Amino acid sequence: MRPTGGPLLSAVHGDITEEAVDAIVNAANTRLARGGGVDNAIHEAAGDADLRAACAELGGCETGDAKATQGFALPARFIIHTVGPVWSGGDRGEDDLLASCYRRCLEVADQLGARSVAFPAISTGVYGFPPERAAAIAVHILRTVPTAVQAVHLVAFDAATYRLYQQLLDDAPHAPG
Ligand code: ADP
Repeated sequence: MRPTGGPLLSAVHGDITEEAVDAIVNAANTRLARGGGVDNAIHEAAGDADLRAACAELGGCETGDAKATQGFALPARFIIHTVGPVWSGGDRGEDDLLASCYRRCLEVADQLGARSVAFPAISTGVYGFPPERAAAIAVHILRTVPTAVQAVHLVAFDAATYRLYQQLLDDAPHAPG
Protein backbone atom coordinates (compact mmCIF):
# COMPACT_ATOMS: atom_id res chain seq x y z
CA MET A 1 0.00 0.00 0.00
CA ARG A 2 1.10 3.51 -0.65
CA PRO A 3 1.34 5.81 2.36
CA THR A 4 -1.44 7.93 0.85
CA GLY A 5 -3.67 4.85 0.73
CA GLY A 6 -4.26 5.14 -3.00
CA PRO A 7 -4.96 2.14 -5.20
CA LEU A 8 -2.24 -0.22 -6.39
CA LEU A 9 -1.92 0.27 -10.14
CA SER A 10 -0.99 -2.58 -12.46
CA ALA A 11 -0.76 -2.97 -16.22
CA VAL A 12 -2.61 -5.87 -17.82
CA HIS A 13 -2.35 -7.00 -21.44
CA GLY A 14 -5.63 -8.52 -22.54
CA ASP A 15 -9.38 -8.34 -22.90
CA ILE A 16 -11.15 -6.27 -20.26
CA THR A 17 -14.30 -8.39 -20.45
CA GLU A 18 -12.36 -11.22 -18.78
CA GLU A 19 -11.25 -9.13 -15.80
CA ALA A 20 -12.47 -10.58 -12.50
CA VAL A 21 -12.77 -7.26 -10.69
CA ASP A 22 -15.65 -5.50 -8.95
CA ALA A 23 -16.14 -3.10 -11.84
CA ILE A 24 -14.88 -2.68 -15.38
CA VAL A 25 -14.98 0.66 -17.16
CA ASN A 26 -16.50 0.98 -20.61
CA ALA A 27 -15.41 3.61 -23.15
CA ALA A 28 -18.95 4.49 -24.19
CA ASN A 29 -20.62 7.20 -26.27
CA THR A 30 -22.97 9.97 -25.10
CA ARG A 31 -26.08 8.01 -26.08
CA LEU A 32 -24.81 4.94 -24.24
CA ALA A 33 -25.69 3.04 -27.40
CA ARG A 34 -23.72 -0.02 -28.43
CA GLY A 35 -20.66 1.16 -30.34
CA GLY A 36 -17.45 -0.39 -31.63
CA GLY A 37 -14.19 -1.35 -29.93
CA VAL A 38 -14.29 -2.12 -26.24
CA ASP A 39 -17.95 -1.06 -26.00
CA ASN A 40 -18.89 -3.71 -28.53
CA ALA A 41 -16.87 -6.37 -26.72
CA ILE A 42 -18.51 -5.49 -23.40
CA HIS A 43 -22.00 -5.68 -24.87
CA GLU A 44 -21.17 -9.04 -26.39
CA ALA A 45 -19.79 -10.49 -23.17
CA ALA A 46 -22.29 -8.96 -20.73
CA GLY A 47 -25.32 -9.89 -22.81
CA ASP A 48 -26.55 -7.37 -25.33
CA ALA A 49 -30.24 -7.37 -24.43
CA ASP A 50 -29.65 -6.87 -20.70
CA LEU A 51 -27.02 -4.20 -21.18
CA ARG A 52 -28.98 -2.28 -23.81
CA ALA A 53 -32.01 -2.17 -21.52
CA ALA A 54 -29.96 -1.01 -18.54
CA CYS A 55 -28.18 1.67 -20.59
CA ALA A 56 -31.47 2.94 -22.01
CA GLU A 57 -32.66 3.71 -18.47
CA LEU A 58 -29.66 5.97 -17.81
CA GLY A 59 -30.67 8.68 -20.29
CA GLY A 60 -27.27 9.13 -21.90
CA CYS A 61 -24.03 10.42 -20.42
CA GLU A 62 -22.09 13.66 -20.91
CA THR A 63 -18.50 13.61 -22.11
CA GLY A 64 -16.27 13.39 -19.03
CA ASP A 65 -19.02 11.87 -16.87
CA ALA A 66 -19.64 8.24 -15.78
CA LYS A 67 -22.68 6.12 -14.94
CA ALA A 68 -22.98 2.51 -13.78
CA THR A 69 -24.97 -0.56 -14.71
CA GLN A 70 -24.84 -4.15 -13.54
CA GLY A 71 -22.27 -6.38 -15.19
CA PHE A 72 -24.81 -9.08 -16.10
CA ALA A 73 -22.95 -12.07 -17.61
CA LEU A 74 -19.49 -10.57 -17.02
CA PRO A 75 -17.19 -11.74 -14.23
CA ALA A 76 -17.29 -8.10 -13.06
CA ARG A 77 -20.29 -7.15 -10.94
CA PHE A 78 -20.59 -3.65 -12.40
CA ILE A 79 -19.85 -1.73 -15.58
CA ILE A 80 -18.97 1.94 -15.23
CA HIS A 81 -19.73 3.65 -18.53
CA THR A 82 -17.71 6.77 -19.21
CA VAL A 83 -17.59 8.97 -22.28
CA GLY A 84 -14.15 10.09 -23.32
CA PRO A 85 -13.47 13.14 -25.48
CA VAL A 86 -13.04 12.87 -29.23
CA TRP A 87 -9.52 14.12 -29.99
CA SER A 88 -9.59 17.23 -32.15
CA GLY A 89 -6.07 18.59 -31.82
CA GLY A 90 -5.82 19.10 -28.07
CA ASP A 91 -7.16 22.65 -27.69
CA ARG A 92 -10.79 21.71 -27.07
CA GLY A 93 -10.34 20.71 -23.46
CA GLU A 94 -9.58 17.08 -24.32
CA ASP A 95 -7.01 16.62 -21.52
CA ASP A 96 -9.38 17.92 -18.84
CA LEU A 97 -12.27 15.85 -20.17
CA LEU A 98 -10.20 12.67 -20.17
CA ALA A 99 -8.99 13.42 -16.64
CA SER A 100 -12.62 13.93 -15.66
CA CYS A 101 -13.49 10.46 -16.99
CA TYR A 102 -10.95 8.79 -14.70
CA ARG A 103 -11.96 10.95 -11.73
CA ARG A 104 -15.69 10.34 -12.20
CA CYS A 105 -15.14 6.59 -12.63
CA LEU A 106 -13.38 6.48 -9.26
CA GLU A 107 -16.24 8.45 -7.68
CA VAL A 108 -18.82 6.08 -9.12
CA ALA A 109 -16.72 3.09 -8.04
CA ASP A 110 -16.69 4.49 -4.51
CA GLN A 111 -20.47 4.92 -4.59
CA LEU A 112 -20.81 1.28 -5.68
CA GLY A 113 -18.40 0.08 -3.01
CA ALA A 114 -16.12 -1.34 -5.71
CA ARG A 115 -12.61 -2.06 -4.45
CA SER A 116 -11.08 -3.32 -7.71
CA VAL A 117 -11.60 -1.57 -11.04
CA ALA A 118 -10.27 -2.27 -14.55
CA PHE A 119 -9.94 0.57 -17.07
CA PRO A 120 -9.49 0.39 -20.84
CA ALA A 121 -7.41 3.07 -22.60
CA ILE A 122 -10.34 5.49 -22.84
CA SER A 123 -10.53 7.60 -26.04
CA THR A 124 -7.43 6.08 -27.62
CA GLY A 125 -9.28 3.95 -30.19
CA VAL A 126 -11.91 5.38 -32.50
CA TYR A 127 -11.84 8.70 -30.60
CA GLY A 128 -8.21 9.25 -31.62
CA PHE A 129 -6.62 10.53 -28.40
CA PRO A 130 -2.80 10.12 -28.57
CA PRO A 131 -2.08 6.97 -26.53
CA GLU A 132 1.01 8.27 -24.70
CA ARG A 133 -0.69 11.45 -23.60
CA ALA A 134 -3.81 9.51 -22.55
CA ALA A 135 -1.76 7.02 -20.52
CA ALA A 136 0.06 9.81 -18.66
CA ILE A 137 -3.25 11.47 -17.76
CA ALA A 138 -4.72 8.15 -16.63
CA VAL A 139 -1.81 7.32 -14.35
CA HIS A 140 -1.65 10.85 -12.93
CA ILE A 141 -5.34 10.93 -11.98
CA LEU A 142 -5.36 7.38 -10.62
CA ARG A 143 -2.37 8.19 -8.43
CA THR A 144 -3.63 11.48 -7.05
CA VAL A 145 -7.39 11.38 -6.62
CA PRO A 146 -8.53 10.11 -3.19
CA THR A 147 -10.55 6.89 -3.43
CA ALA A 148 -11.39 3.76 -1.48
CA VAL A 149 -10.56 1.66 -4.57
CA GLN A 150 -7.62 -0.59 -3.70
CA ALA A 151 -6.64 -2.13 -7.02
CA VAL A 152 -6.70 -0.59 -10.47
CA HIS A 153 -5.93 -2.63 -13.58
CA LEU A 154 -4.90 -0.60 -16.61
CA VAL A 155 -5.96 -2.97 -19.36
CA ALA A 156 -4.15 -2.61 -22.67
CA PHE A 157 -5.57 -4.44 -25.66
CA ASP A 158 -2.44 -3.91 -27.75
CA ALA A 159 1.24 -4.42 -26.98
CA ALA A 160 2.22 -0.79 -27.53
CA THR A 161 -0.28 0.50 -24.97
CA TYR A 162 0.81 -2.22 -22.54
CA ARG A 163 4.43 -1.04 -22.82
CA LEU A 164 3.35 2.55 -22.24
CA TYR A 165 1.62 1.59 -19.00
CA GLN A 166 4.56 -0.53 -17.87
CA GLN A 167 6.96 2.34 -18.48
CA LEU A 168 4.82 4.85 -16.63
CA LEU A 169 4.34 2.53 -13.67
CA ASP A 170 8.06 1.68 -13.56
CA ASP A 171 9.14 5.32 -13.79
CA ALA A 172 7.58 6.20 -10.48
CA PRO A 173 7.23 3.00 -8.47
CA HIS A 174 5.01 2.86 -5.46
CA ALA A 175 6.64 3.83 -2.20
CA PRO A 176 7.06 0.80 0.05
CA GLY A 177 5.10 0.34 3.24
P1 ADP B 1 -12.87 5.18 -27.81
O1 ADP B 1 -14.07 5.37 -28.70
O2 ADP B 1 -13.05 5.81 -26.44
O3 ADP B 1 -11.60 5.58 -28.47
P2 ADP B 1 -12.37 2.33 -28.35
O4 ADP B 1 -13.16 1.18 -27.85
O5 ADP B 1 -12.37 2.60 -29.82
O6 ADP B 1 -12.86 3.61 -27.51
O7 ADP B 1 -10.84 2.16 -27.89
C1 ADP B 1 -10.41 2.39 -26.58
C2 ADP B 1 -9.30 1.40 -26.26
O8 ADP B 1 -9.88 0.13 -25.94
C3 ADP B 1 -8.32 1.14 -27.41
O9 ADP B 1 -7.00 1.11 -26.88
C4 ADP B 1 -8.73 -0.25 -27.89
O10 ADP B 1 -7.63 -0.95 -28.45
C5 ADP B 1 -9.14 -0.88 -26.59
N1 ADP B 1 -9.96 -2.09 -26.65
C6 ADP B 1 -10.72 -2.56 -27.66
N2 ADP B 1 -11.30 -3.73 -27.31
C7 ADP B 1 -10.89 -4.00 -26.03
C8 ADP B 1 -11.11 -5.07 -25.12
N3 ADP B 1 -11.91 -6.10 -25.40
N4 ADP B 1 -10.50 -5.01 -23.90
C9 ADP B 1 -9.71 -3.98 -23.58
N5 ADP B 1 -9.46 -2.94 -24.38
C10 ADP B 1 -10.04 -2.95 -25.61
